Amino acid sequence: MDTTLRGVGVSHGVAIGEVRHMGTAALEPPTHRIAPQDAPREQARARQAVEAVAADLVARGNLAGGEAQAVLEAQAMMARDPELRSDVERRIAVGSTAERAVYDALSAYRALLAGAGEYLAGRVADLDDVRNRIVARLLGVPMPGVPDSDQPYVLVARDLAPADTALLDPALVLGFVTEEGGPTSHSAILARALGVPAVVALPGAGKLAEGIVVAVDGSSGEVMVAPDADEQAALARAAEERRAALSATIGPGATSDGHKVPLLANIGGPEDVPAAIEAGAEGVGLFRTEFLFLDSGGAAPSRERQTRTYREVLQAFPESRVVVRVLDAGADKPLSFLGQAEEPNPALGVRGLRTLLQHPDVLHGQLAALAEAAEGLPVYLEVMAPMVADRTDARAFAEACREAGLQAKCGAMVEIPSAALRARSVLQEVEFLSVGTNDLAQYTFAADRQAGALSRLQDPWQPALLDLVALAAEAGKAEGKSCGVCGEAASDPLLACVLTGLGVTSLSMGAPAIPYVRSALAQHTLAQCERAAAAARAADSAEQARAAATGVLSGE
Ligand code: PEP
Ligand code: MG
Repeated sequence: MDTTLRGVGVSHGVAIGEVRHMGTAALEPPTHRIAPQDAPREQARARQAVEAVAADLVARGNLAGGEAQAVLEAQAMMARDPELRSDVERRIAVGSTAERAVYDALSAYRALLAGAGEYLAGRVADLDDVRNRIVARLLGVPMPGVPDSDQPYVLVARDLAPADTALLDPALVLGFVTEEGGPTSHSAILARALGVPAVVALPGAGKLAEGIVVAVDGSSGEVMVAPDADEQAALARAAEERRAALSATIGPGATSDGHKVPLLANIGGPEDVPAAIEAGAEGVGLFRTEFLFLDSGGAAPSRERQTRTYREVLQAFPESRVVVRVLDAGADKPLSFLGQAEEPNPALGVRGLRTLLQHPDVLHGQLAALAEAAEGLPVYLEVMAPMVADRTDARAFAEACREAGLQAKCGAMVEIPSAALRARSVLQEVEFLSVGTNDLAQYTFAADRQAGALSRLQDPWQPALLDLVALAAEAGKAEGKSCGVCGEAASDPLLACVLTGLGVTSLSMGAPAIPYVRSALAQHTLAQCERAAAAARAADSAEQARAAATGVLSGE
């Protein structure tokens, strides 16, 4: 075996440790036949096993929460699929055992998925996991799952199944290596969420010997097998130097030829301020105020409490820009005190600014608290509204800001395609734009951002999304006003270069991403970023856009 294998690096950093394989060995049950009178008993066994596995997946989801929960619930739905159940019962009726019927029915479905294009093929790992779990239960053998180790290890798998990764102990997992998967696979998403290095799509990963030491470089995509002590020390030193270099590259965000792109932090409240300052944030680009409202025990927080909280944040950023987003309630952020009616499609219903315009007292109270909080402070307060659809929305928000006596720039988030398409018209009413790529992707692709199964469409590299960001940025330029990005897209270092090339004027992200984005920008000129942006927009898929931009930015 080569001493260095190459895959796709999807989560930065270097991990050195012993290989532990995920216990996903496929169990193939024997094919012996049952007597017809045993069919009802076998069908009952199959039903019980399916239900037990589905319930276990839901319970694991509840424990894990967040993104993992959505994926685990989708797996439970796969297990409970009525067509699958009929297929299993049919197979048992003609002589299969419960375990063989489950195995065959799910294998048939697997073959369909595997042949159904890149995205569905990516869900095959989820389906295999469901199959292995039900079969293991019926055979009475241990469930496939995470290695049973109390020492830190590098986890190696064909592709990681969400059911197990949700329960991985982050203190024990040094990094991930998978044979399959891609940049948007669960393995990649989970590795980034855990902050551990990961390499996916590594041919031969399954053949790595259990217990052998590997060095995983999540930036280059290289996995060094059995590095000797000197190599290990050199790799660890290089990783440490890179970490140190990243945290040492302070100063304003800019391209290598000095085009400034302020790097701002996304925060949920004063508790996030220290990390933002430590990462060298030049201000706050998105203060999500809903957490303050969510923490208020079902009532609106008092004016005093709001003022205190806002002032605490504003004081931490003297002479800097702090962009506060007014309450974004509704849909995925319900707030009971607003007494919102049940809606058939909450994401398309009354949320964000729409909610606030129905509750002008809440909007006024928040704007007045912000005005009070900023009094006498040397800060550049900016206030923006979520879910602005058009100029009428923008005008209503700007008027509310004026009525509250706010001495602050007033802006609109671009989260709905209509706002991007008519950004110049929106800018007649407000002074800046901030693109929320998370919701903009949801509404552009009609893909619920909470549905794990639709993550392909939520990929911020989608060229259609880049087109809309470009429209907003061009409108900002034409009107002489700023247009930043504050959605997750800004935290991908490569994409940050592309966004800069599209004409975006600031980038706001979770604090840990700031050093990586700063370093990526510093390695390219504005013209190179513009070429990468043009190449990405010329692509027809997110994968092609990423590859095209990578080609431009690395080939120089
Ligand atoms: C967005 O939609 O991109 C955004 C920044 O807002 P949130 O994620 O809070 O909806
Ligand atoms: Mg949003």
